[in-house]
Amino acid sequence: MTRTVGTSIISAPCCGSLYRTTRYSSINYSAWEHWTDGYSDSMLAPSDEGLSLCQCGQYFLHWQCEPLSHISKDSPKEEQREEIPYVPTVGDRDLQAFIDSDCQNKLMSEIGRRRYWRHLNHDFRKHYRDCRDKGQPALIRFNPSEAQLTNMQALLELLQEQPEPNLLELAELHHELGNQAQALACLDQVGPHGQKLAQAMRKCFDEGLSGPFRFRPDLCPEPVLPPSVLAQIEAWKLRNRPWHVKALERVKTGATALRARLGT
Ligand SMILES: [Zn+2]
Repeated sequence: MTRTVGTSIISAPCCGSLYRTTRYSSINYSAWEHWTDGYSDSMLAPSDEGLSLCQCGQYFLHWQCEPLSHISKDSPKEEQREEIPYVPTVGDRDLQAFIDSDCQNKLMSEIGRRRYWRHLNHDFRKHYRDCRDKGQPALIRFNPSEAQLTNMQALLELLQEQPEPNLLELAELHHELGNQAQALACLDQVGPHGQKLAQAMRKCFDEGLSGPFRFRPDLCPEPVLPPSVLAQIEAWKLRNRPWHVKALERVKTGATALRARLGT
């Protein structure tokens, strides 16, 4: 279940503008569909990854801002809260503008380009569902545009700089870029947690499927938590909040349902 407990007031790092963000006590990451590019069709979890555009024109990640204060639901400060706008997050249609801004922050670039990758795959998703529904899997063809190829290559380069990249994600990027040998090499290195999905991906590659594909929830290696939640784990570790860390780590390792309890 996704539950909110109020809002937090933050100050944008670029110009100090004040915004409020929704404060969750829990977020449900279960989804209707799981795709190999990481997209999941979920109605209950925020999907913008916190990428925000300040009124001064600068991009920032709102979850990286230390809250100045918290206002709980039904608080007497409700009126005061209304004066502060919600943080303007970047919608899917604004991702192109973000990419064009040539952001030099690697984490923001990774988040923006990953979202753009999944967003640009949506047309293929529709085509895939249509073919599956009509029982015509042989007609599923993935023909990425120049914009898709450029974005995937840039994302791949960002991820390859990381000490421990998500090998399933790297494999999928190589696969969609047409680099089958590199895709298979990544799958060969996947650890025990991701073996079921790695095997399913290898099978689809062998069958000639060229784009992302849907897979059953039981193939999930582990819930892929957004960077905002992973950052929350680190923050709670620093603040010595072991109960919260333990709850989130359980979610991270897939030992419990896809629900991240974020505390209050
Ligand atoms: Zn600003």
